[in-house]
Amino acid sequence: MSQIVTRIAPSPTGYMHIGTARAALFNWLFARHHNGRFLLRIEDTDRSRSTPEATEAIYRGMKWLGMDWDGEAISQFARADRHADVAHQMLANGTAYKCYATKEEIDAFREAAREAGRPPLFLSPWRDSAETPDLPYVIRLKAPRDGETTINDVVQGTVTWKNETLDDMILLRSDGTPTYMLAVVVDDHDMGITHIIRGDDHLTNAARQSQIYTAMGWDIPVFAHIPLVYGPDGKKLSKRHGAMGVEEYQAMGYYPDAVMNYLARLGWSHGDDEFFTMKQAIDWFRLEDVVKSPARFDFKKLENLSGQHIRAADNETLLAKLEEFLSATGQTDLTDAQKRLMFAGMDGMKERAKTFPELLEMAHFILGTRPFVPDEKAAKLLDTVSRGMLNRLTSRLRGVSWTHDILEAEIRAFAETEEIGLGKVAQPLRAALTGRTISPSVFDMMVLLGKDESIARLEDASV
Ligand code: GLU
Repeated sequence: MSQIVTRIAPSPTGYMHIGTARAALFNWLFARHHNGRFLLRIEDTDRSRSTPEATEAIYRGMKWLGMDWDGEAISQFARADRHADVAHQMLANGTAYKCYATKEEIDAFREAAREAGRPPLFLSPWRDSAETPDLPYVIRLKAPRDGETTINDVVQGTVTWKNETLDDMILLRSDGTPTYMLAVVVDDHDMGITHIIRGDDHLTNAARQSQIYTAMGWDIPVFAHIPLVYGPDGKKLSKRHGAMGVEEYQAMGYYPDAVMNYLARLGWSHGDDEFFTMKQAIDWFRLEDVVKSPARFDFKKLENLSGQHIRAADNETLLAKLEEFLSATGQTDLTDAQKRLMFAGMDGMKERAKTFPELLEMAHFILGTRPFVPDEKAAKLLDTVSRGMLNRLTSRLRGVSWTHDILEAEIRAFAETEEIGLGKVAQPLRAALTGRTISPSVFDMMVLLGKDESIARLEDASV
């Protein structure tokens, strides 16, 4: 087979819908698996919505998720002349015709059809007319009236429409602008798209689009209409279920590869594998493994996967992604000193974080500054008794060498002297060092912070 070419063709709406990201992902995986090309087309013909900002939101979403596309993104609007040319070619080859019917005539025709119990399809009297009055006209497809139109969809199987249920769609409006249906087909043809993978809400469009391909004598691409994403309650995913825009997921601090991993699992599977990298997904992806039943979005699963990806990431990448998160959410950049400490302490921190905000919370002992005002839970741990105990511990620690092993031995010995468990020392100690009740191991933190800073924090807390 010749090279595989896929595309994602989002309409700019101001944000990138999570369902669009999933359709893009399937196209991207399929193209990359076959060493093909994956293209991006912005369907910006609706001029009121197609602002540069709305297009930027799509680029940002794609980049954040790590989906690279080949070549420059294509603007559908910029190709309007080519679309019109094709409509005129169809006129010339007799597969389309000029229709001069007015809106009132069309409405009256439909009304009469409805009253007679026929489907309200407009059958233009101009279809076979040789007259060319000097009046405004649209160009309509001369669609087949008899027989059937069939799509052999990779996911949906064979789907058939009776041609009598499909009307002569408009290709070019009376102002000379192309309709969506024409633009999509011309663009997909010119871009050499071999496989169209998209939401199953476009299935009927595929039937209509295949009629345009046939009229032009063009090869029809392979169609794969994937099930849409549904909410946990089985209803179509909407705002009510939670975030819809890719950037909202970014703002919530999910690890981007985890979002990709999760979206891939919505409707596609490779055996029992739940956690995988995008490299693995590219190796494994086959359209045949996409299921027909709708996928349900499960935020808990996404969160768990995010935690797994954070743990599996190498510390350098993780730090870079964290910095990306800070900048995308308008937070202060890390200083070089903070970065050094974050890097050194990453192993201990990433174990317990499922999202970037949780990772930042774990890093509070690095990112916060003295004095560490304890939060409510930490404050409870720092009662008078504990503060007295920390005072005695601090005196003892002043004289020791500052290594993990020595600190651990000293603190254990101290707990024995005090006749309390290690936890009874470690918890207030953590509260004093961080102002929190959750953090990496106290020994790790003390080593990372160094002796002076650790002692200073203990002194702050014991006054
Ligand atoms: N612009 C369409 C959408 O955003 C996609 C059309 C297609 O993939 O053919 O739903």
